[in-house]
Amino acid sequence: MTELERQQWDVVVVGAGGAGLRAAIEAREAGARTAVICKSLFGKAHTVMAEGGIAASMGNVNPRDNWQVHFRDTMRGGKFLNQWRMAELHAQEAPDRVWELETWGALFDRTGDGKISQRNFGGHEYPRLAHVGDRTGLELIRTLQQKIVSLQQEDEREFGDYEARLKIFQECTVTRVLKDGDRVAGAFCYERESGRFFVLEAPAVVLATGGIGKSFKVTSNSWEYTGDGHALALLAGAPLLNMEFVQFHPTGMVWPPSVKGILVTESVRGDGGVLRNSEGRRFMFGYVPDVFKEKYAETEEEGDRWYEDPDNNRRPPSCSPATRSPGPSTPR
Ligand SMILES: Cc1cc2nc3c(=O)[nH]c(=O)nc-3n(C[C@H](O)[C@H](O)[C@H](O)COP(=O)(O)OP(=O)(O)OC[C@H]3O[C@@H](n4cnc5c(N)ncnc54)[C@H](O)[C@@H]3O)c2cc1C
Repeated sequence: MTELERQQWDVVVVGAGGAGLRAAIEAREAGARTAVICKSLFGKAHTVMAEGGIAASMGNVNPRDNWQVHFRDTMRGGKFLNQWRMAELHAQEAPDRVWELETWGALFDRTGDGKISQRNFGGHEYPRLAHVGDRTGLELIRTLQQKIVSLQQEDEREFGDYEARLKIFQECTVTRVLKDGDRVAGAFCYERESGRFFVLEAPAVVLATGGIGKSFKVTSNSWEYTGDGHALALLAGAPLLNMEFVQFHPTGMVWPPSVKGILVTESVRGDGGVLRNSEGRRFMFGYVPDVFKEKYAETEEEGDRWYEDPDNNRRPPSCSPATRSPGPSTPR
């Protein structure tokens, strides 16, 4: 009978995109021996495809921005069905996470006076996206990988082994989260190249496997995004919430067939592009839900003014300077 290899770790992180790598860095820095496992090559996570940027209310381009406005935009974009505490944490902490990436070696585009530049994006009241041209995700993954390597170099100096406290298993797939009674006990995995099965035993398993986009025929997502984490969690007995939330992007390539589904980044519209139908009409004005109507531009001329002069056009009352308090992060 084939011997099943078993290894013991403190934490197993399933997925090596932005979420998984950041979780692994945190776990390793807290002293936990951490294994990261990913289905494809290390560095080929979906995160690498992100183009437009990272939403963080640093207020570098428009100083009126702050975390409360970002929080409000996020809740409104989610039609108030969002988990508000997650949206709040995201809005509060995003500026520090962007800055942290810079301290780890990322280099974002700059404003004229040398601050991290920010651009407009759908649903954001002010220019808010920190970016690196249209390859922000590549810079993000490159930086997180570099940080992982630097932690491994520390371990080599301390223990003579690069993988003593942080190991990457690439081209390996997790098919089950293992349990011991009610408690999580590890992950069952197979290696693509050899087909061998192995078990990573750990009292904590972090699922960071990305989305389910590949369930759709036309998609910007690659082959890996088949909702594995959702299935692993469900099979392990976890409840799934808000599964209907899938991002349908308004702009993508349709022709020729070889590029069908490739994303045309939202920042095209953030930088002044407009959506027109086959008759040349700007049709989106007909789709603003009633509840939001009074807050958005009603005519093409007004829409254009929003872009050209965001400070002196219609704004929701909650964004007026008098009602805002400063966020916890210093603008950078
Ligand atoms: C074209 C495009 C452009 C985008 N632009 C932006 C943008 O500008 N701004 C923005 O905020 N967001 C953008 N997004 C969305 C953003 O990229 C994703 O939401 C984000 O990268 C998800 O990160 P993640 O770490 O959760 O997952 P991913 O980066 O998708 O990583 C998932 C990881 O899980 C692994 N995995 C999956 N299943 C298994 C399994 N069974 N076993 C082992 N490993 C597994 C994969 O191999 C991978 O390593 C864009 C997305 C696309 C597709």
